[in-house]
This record gives sequence, structure tokens and C-alpha cells, in this order.
Amino acid sequence: MPKVDVPQGLWLSCDACAKMIFKKVLEENQRVCPECGHHYRVDARTRIKQLCDPDTFEEFNAELVSTNPLDWTDSKPYEARQADARQKTGLTEAVLTGRAYVKGRAAILAVMDPFFIMNIGLDAIKASAPTEAPFRPNQRVSIRYCTVTNNAKNNAGPARRA
Ligand SMILES: [Zn+2]
Repeated sequence: MPKVDVPQGLWLSCDACAKMIFKKVLEENQRVCPECGHHYRVDARTRIKQLCDPDTFEEFNAELVSTNPLDWTDSKPYEARQADARQKTGLTEAVLTGRAYVKGRAAILAVMDPFFIMNIGLDAIKASAPTEAPFRPNQRVSIRYCTVTNNAKNNAGPARRA
């Protein structure tokens, strides 16, 4: 059988079914394998693009980050884990919050990023979404939470302003 040259980086082998998937097709299918239905992790910014009307997302409370009042440490200090996650993701916290339009309707969003430290930021969600004023007084908006979990312990503390 003649060798077929496949351009590197355009295809991947599905983690679940091992079939070859064209990456562009995976992205167009919102990161769900078209062969077996396996759902790949979606980072917060991609999730926001998938959900919101184009260019309508305005982040707020970006300076709100989790604290460590219990002085939590496992194999490495919590603050070091946060620093690693910030460098890896470009986010300040596990949750992105903001306002946007979804199919033309005003919405407040809190979107967790699965590539940050899982299960932190819940306090930041609680603290950030309700404190932000809606688009204008008395305007009806929906509040949407996109959460992720890996059943890890929740080692987050109350949120603070950075
Ligand atoms: Zn698959």
C-alpha cells in the first residue's frame, strides 16, 4: 500500500474511538467527535465563542481571584498551582465572567475553564456574577453558568480582589 503523506497537525486520533478526525471538523462540531460522540474539553474562551453572539462578550471581575484561607497545600503550594494555571491558560482564575448577547438576548455568563485548576473558583462565581449590574436598570437578563469538574476536592477559599 503506498504511503500517504498526511500534513502534521491537521488530523488527530480520537481519544475515545481512535478514529482519525480532521481537526477542522472537530472544531465545527463544537469539539465533539463526529464518529463516536466523545466530548473533548473546551476552554472557557472557546466556550464563550460557541455560546455568544460574535464580539458581544465583555469580561468583568477579571481581577477577582480565589484566596487560600485554609493555607491549602498538597504536593505543591496552592499559590504555585494558581501561578502555573495562570501561565498555562492566560487566565487569572478558573472562571471567566462577563456580559454578552446569546441569540440577541442579554446574558451574564460565568464560564469555567477545564485547563485551569479544576474545581476552584466556585467562590469567585458566587461572588462575581450577582455583583455585576445588568446591561441597564430593570433589563431582563439570563444568567448562565458553564461548569466543569473532575471530582477533585474543592480547595478554594473566599474570593478577593487582586
Ligand atoms: Zn471518537
